[in-house]
Amino acid sequence: MKKFALLLLLPIIGKAQIPSYKPAVNFIQQHKVSMLEEFMHFLAIPNIASDKENILRNANWIMAAMKQRGINDVSLLYPKTKNAPPAVYGEVITPGATETIIFYAHYDGQPVDTTKWATGLHPFKPVLLPGIYDDNAKTISIQEAIEHENARIYARGASDDKAGVMAIINAYGALKASGINPTVNIKFFFEGEEEAGSPHLHEIMELYANKLQSNMWVICDGPLHQSGRKQVVFGVRGDTHVEVTVFASKRPLHSGHYGNWAPNPAMQLSKLLSSMKDDNGKVLIKDFYSDITPLLASEKEALRKIPNVDQQVMDELGFIKPENSSWSLADAVNMPSLNINGIQSANVGKLAANVIPTKAIASIDLRLVVGNDWQKQQQKVVNHIKAQGFFVTDREPTDEQRKKYSKIAMVALSSGYNAQKTSMDNPFAKRIVKAVATTSVDPIITTPTLGGSLPLFIFEKYLNTKPISVPIANHDNNQHAENENLKLSNFWKGIETFMSIMTLQK
Ligand SMILES: [Zn+2]
Repeated sequence: MKKFALLLLLPIIGKAQIPSYKPAVNFIQQHKVSMLEEFMHFLAIPNIASDKENILRNANWIMAAMKQRGINDVSLLYPKTKNAPPAVYGEVITPGATETIIFYAHYDGQPVDTTKWATGLHPFKPVLLPGIYDDNAKTISIQEAIEHENARIYARGASDDKAGVMAIINAYGALKASGINPTVNIKFFFEGEEEAGSPHLHEIMELYANKLQSNMWVICDGPLHQSGRKQVVFGVRGDTHVEVTVFASKRPLHSGHYGNWAPNPAMQLSKLLSSMKDDNGKVLIKDFYSDITPLLASEKEALRKIPNVDQQVMDELGFIKPENSSWSLADAVNMPSLNINGIQSANVGKLAANVIPTKAIASIDLRLVVGNDWQKQQQKVVNHIKAQGFFVTDREPTDEQRKKYSKIAMVALSSGYNAQKTSMDNPFAKRIVKAVATTSVDPIITTPTLGGSLPLFIFEKYLNTKPISVPIANHDNNQHAENENLKLSNFWKGIETFMSIMTLQK
């Protein structure tokens, strides 16, 4: 009798080890063609946040796709500000469930410069290619793409972040069609102006605070680790900008008649910028690193486990980092940074003229970690500019100022936001990590922060809830630039990732 009971138990034990969402993976396998067709229709709708008409078309398209999958209470959540893009909302209440997860993605994309896209590619005419774009690449059919392991889909939003929207709703659709119940209540929240800096997200959160309660927000945005492994990310860096314009003569000067004598703003700006960093990439601005909250033991441990991809990424991108730089890529994103986004003065190349320019401008990007305050960080840069002997003003210099000061810098401070981190010891987040791990043969990566920035602090501020990020896109997706693409294998794996979270275990 005992032996018989044991035999009966065996299949049950066996089954318990197979995650409950697995049958829905077959559903994905069988419906790849229709899912891809649908994704391509979605990508064909232009999605720049300022394009009000098309943004609404996107929102309505998503609502229809959600209703089709049996998602309830599908609606548009508008902010208080008129004419701002709405968020698309929907929910699934699971009988008996006491926990709720909100899945976030954004349906708007970065502005496009169509002329920069490669021949045959267009931001809003999605095509499939058998791999990374090159001049000889020929488009392939949906059927061919499904059979091709390196196939990619090219369009604005293919990876950032319509892939997130589609992976999330397809995950729920596949579970539902396979008769598998989620274990938690699910809410869907798709933002329509993330790439414009989420200027009204806090208004939506304030207006709909009751609707938007949950145990955790799962953010699908950004890329996987460069090693190709899945990752769960516990934070994001903050971000702000400083624009510096250095002035010299009021009109351009003949470089022969006045060279060696008149000040050159491009030279002054170059010297100013080079005083900000040493040859190894360390920022030299006073107190730049002084407010940082030190990493916790669990965060240091997580960083230690991240595979070092420095050589791989340097080979891929065609450069070598400074010889004495002490940071790996993983270390570097856990520190505040200062980067020049662009420099402008007079012309170069065919348009170059023998002049001394009148001004030179640099845009500086400051990424922040927990402990940094974005306004204080900007002020450190301003103080540094003053310490280099510049008169600093917030507007074009007057004639009196030009007569009085030999070095004049106009500084424009943009708005910004601080970094956000969720504890790596958060028990709910740990269960999500465990769920994602069931979808991957390779160990998954957990990391204290993404190098990039999102205004995730507002989830804490307005809803008192913690977010974590579960990205799905390939790291070489050209997001924010021309030829944006998504590797299809990432899409299918991403759907599975979200199915595992929707069937979260205790
Ligand atoms: Zn994004």
